[in-house]
Amino acid sequence: MSESKTFTRDPLCGFPVDQATSVHSERDGKTYYFCSDLCQQKFNAVSAGTAVTCAG
Ligand SMILES: [Zn+2]
Repeated sequence: MSESKTFTRDPLCGFPVDQATSVHSERDGKTYYFCSDLCQQKFNAVSAGTAVTCAG
């Protein structure tokens, strides 16, 4: 059995995340995936275009 996973990158910290299992948020019609709740919360807190680094 081969299961293909779709990986993307956390827009905050650049960490590779699995779209199937990661937390995500939608903004401007795009879906963003995060390595952790912390990054998701930061993403939701800051305005688009603001550079934020992941503490985790
Ligand atoms: Zn992150």
